[in-house]
Amino acid sequence: GLRLELRDVSFGYAEGGMASGGGRQVLKGVSLSAEPGESIAIVGPSGGGKSTLLRLLVRLYDADGGQVLLNGVDVRELQQDSLRAAVAVVPQDTVLFNDTIVHNVAYGRPGATWGEVQAAAAAAQLDAAVGRMPLGWQTVVGERGLKLSGGEKQRVAIARAFLRRPRLLICDEATSALDTATERGIQASLRALAAGRTAVFVAHRLSTVQGCDRIYVLADGRVAEQGTHAQLMAAR
Ligand code: ADP
Ligand code: ADP
Repeated sequence: GLRLELRDVSFGYAEGGMASGGGRQVLKGVSLSAEPGESIAIVGPSGGGKSTLLRLLVRLYDADGGQVLLNGVDVRELQQDSLRAAVAVVPQDTVLFNDTIVHNVAYGRPGATWGEVQAAAAAAQLDAAVGRMPLGWQTVVGERGLKLSGGEKQRVAIARAFLRRPRLLICDEATSALDTATERGIQASLRALAAGRTAVFVAHRLSTVQGCDRIYVLADGRVAEQGTHAQLMAAR
């Protein structure tokens, strides 16, 4: 497994919103860690810096100060390819291509075998939805094809992530747009995906991330609180 550590990380967007460069600080000395196989959660108010923190993990931006470390190695020293191979993101809104459902699942692992795609889809509990589609795995989905529900799209994203076998999993408010019943089902699949992996969940509600080993409350660019779900609830 992979150990993730943020050590006193600071970051500010440059004026104009482009690359980093020491503008107004939106992360102000954030330190956190996830041991190999642990799931951690980042929660907190809107504007607290959660999305920004995730962008540093995938090197959309680099920290202005401090370090982001994977197994003790600064991400800036890793090859972009090895970072990309190690990390999978399940985003808030999954983008589907105007292509078959099987190609949509295999996106990111083009060489995957049929058996691997099937196993990933089964693990993500996507097979029932595919069974209802007119042309099964050959059904074209996306804007100009069959429109999938929000929950079905997230199952595609989860199947994609299963197929990639990431060493670090990032789930960015992956269930925030779903109704409660759908959210529960997707959360169960995400927990299955996170099992045995190092995972970072961003969520807007504490209850969504009960199953995580440790929760960090990020507010105004700082870790305001940290602990297990039970510890944070007791402190309220
Ligand atoms: P999230 O729901 O992920 O926290 P937001 O709704 O805060 O995202 O913002 C949506 C997008 O708008 C983000 O991806 C971010 O890049 C961009 N954004 C947010 N705040 C600003 C800002 N002050 N200036 C420029 N872009 C911003
Ligand atoms: P959260 O995900 O917790 O809602 P964000 O990381 O989106 O927080 O935002 C933290 C702060 O950074 C906010 O003040 C937001 O407006 C600002 N911000 C986010 N994205 C951008 C961006 N692309 N350019 C400039 N400011 C941004």
